[in-house]
Amino acid sequence: MAGEPQADCLFCKIVSGDVPATVVKETDTTVAFRDINPQAPTHVLVIPRVHYPDAASLAVAEPQIAADVLREAAEVAAQDKVDAGGYRIVFNTGSGAGQTVFHAHAHVLGGRGLNWPPG
Ligand code: 5GP
Ligand code: ZN
Repeated sequence: MAGEPQADCLFCKIVSGDVPATVVKETDTTVAFRDINPQAPTHVLVIPRVHYPDAASLAVAEPQIAADVLREAAEVAAQDKVDAGGYRIVFNTGSGAGQTVFHAHAHVLGGRGLNWPPG
């Protein structure tokens, strides 16, 4: 069924606790944890507990949960005190854009200057 955990999905395993992560915030619908290979002083991933391959398919199937992910991204930025200085929310979508884990996730990057456009 759509949204069900996938046995071969790393982020489903983080949701279930089978793979450890440094969790910084949880809600009924989302989990936020530090990226294992941080690209900025704050680099947190916010994921829905349900499995969808990318942010757009999550938004179509579960718009409220997609909104939860966005809200939690902002909450994490505030919790890490990078909101005043500016931060970036990124949804890499497709391998050509650098997506490597096909479970929807928002990158929250902050705590340093961020160039535009990104590479
Ligand atoms: P993507 O490249 O799909 O947009 O983002 C996937 C992110 O997941 C990468 O930034 C990568 O560093 C991170 N990542 C990959 N494996 C793990 C892991 O086991 N634990 C954590 N916390 N992050 C991971
Ligand atoms: Zn998954």
